Amino acid sequence: MTKNLVVGAGFSGAVIARLLADSGEEVLVIDKKEHIAGNSYDYTDENGIKIHKYGSHIFHTNNEKVWDFIKNFTDFNTYMHKVVAVIDGIETTIPFNINTLYDVFPESLARRLEEKLLKAFEYNKKVPILEFQKQADNDLKFLANYVYEKVFLHYTNKQWGNSPDEVDSAVTARVPVYISCDDRYFQDKYQGIPTGGYTKVVERILRHPNISIKLNTDYKDLSGKFDRIFYTGSIDEFFEYKYGELPYRSVYFKLETHNHEHYQSNAVVNYPCNYDFTRIHEYKYYLNDISSKTVIAKEYSEFFENGKNERYYPIPKDENTALYNKYLEEAKKLSNVYFLGRLGDYKYYNMDQAIGRAIELFEEINK
Ligand SMILES: Cc1cc2nc3c(=O)[nH]c(=O)nc-3n(C[C@H](O)[C@H](O)[C@H](O)COP(=O)(O)OP(=O)(O)OC[C@H]3O[C@@H](n4cnc5c(N)ncnc54)[C@H](O)[C@@H]3O)c2cc1C
Repeated sequence: MTKNLVVGAGFSGAVIARLLADSGEEVLVIDKKEHIAGNSYDYTDENGIKIHKYGSHIFHTNNEKVWDFIKNFTDFNTYMHKVVAVIDGIETTIPFNINTLYDVFPESLARRLEEKLLKAFEYNKKVPILEFQKQADNDLKFLANYVYEKVFLHYTNKQWGNSPDEVDSAVTARVPVYISCDDRYFQDKYQGIPTGGYTKVVERILRHPNISIKLNTDYKDLSGKFDRIFYTGSIDEFFEYKYGELPYRSVYFKLETHNHEHYQSNAVVNYPCNYDFTRIHEYKYYLNDISSKTVIAKEYSEFFENGKNERYYPIPKDENTALYNKYLEEAKKLSNVYFLGRLGDYKYYNMDQAIGRAIELFEEINK
């Protein structure tokens, strides 16, 4: 029987492990953390509230293959994510859309801007902020500057530790003006929260007679022979940083328990202009947890430093891609080691993309 090692028990590692196990192969899954589910890990606290340890996770996808796979392991509720931001003390929807106009501007101005927006752009279009800024019309210019300043500039500085022009367009495209009245953050066909939480989903994916799991185990301390290795840790670490470290953005959370049923109006409230934190998560909204208390997490961003904090977001920048490509060239020289996941591929993946990538890799090696 082929003996596989999967490094990392997040979604990427769990899915590839399961597909290998289903095809009759033996799999050892290791993770250096004391829990499975990687960044998607959640747990129920003493108040009966499901906490997303590494920040709010909302499942959303248009990928039928991913949906067909994941629904074998969980039901989802019909939660549809909305994000509000506090702008000049007013709570309004993010991304900035037509409804936002009416929240933050006097009605006559909002109406004028709405008409101009609908003339300039197709309804339902998401216009990245930097493209939006190119408008010639004075009212639209005013709006572009407003959104840039109030929604984008300070938030980007806080989140990425850089000014917007130093941040790749892949990141800025995530901050659009949405020509729509749809207040949802995602428009995907399938969206929701697994009814038992994410850790349960990953646990079920890994529950297979051909899979064994070892937690608190770092790849570098593991001995043993394997026919194939699937590595979902950071690719630079695998190669002992021979070309240097790949940079990441990290975040940390300060949890607070409050003796109220709710702390804020929504699961996530962004603070683009005020305070040092970027946003506040209130977790009980996701599964409608019943408790007289509530738990919130204030999210702060910082750069990743090896040994100090966790890798969260790969930083899309030409020089980082060039460094990653050097590791990729090394990876191609190895015939039995495959890299995947947001750390292995050095790419920001949503959960569905991480699952999709694992499925694709499995199909590719079994062609
Ligand atoms: C703040 C934040 C919010 C997010 N919100 C969403 C969301 O709302 N919706 C969504 O779809 N996605 C979201 N994501 C993305 C989601 O977290 C990822 O898609 C998912 O975690 C990818 O899974 P993965 O298995 O590739 O990586 P991970 O979950 O990071 O798993 C990798 C695992 O490998 C282990 N590992 C690494 N190196 C080693 C080693 N040397 N030895 C042993 N083990 C090792 C790690 O401990 C980790 O458990 C969010 C991400 C972040 C950072």
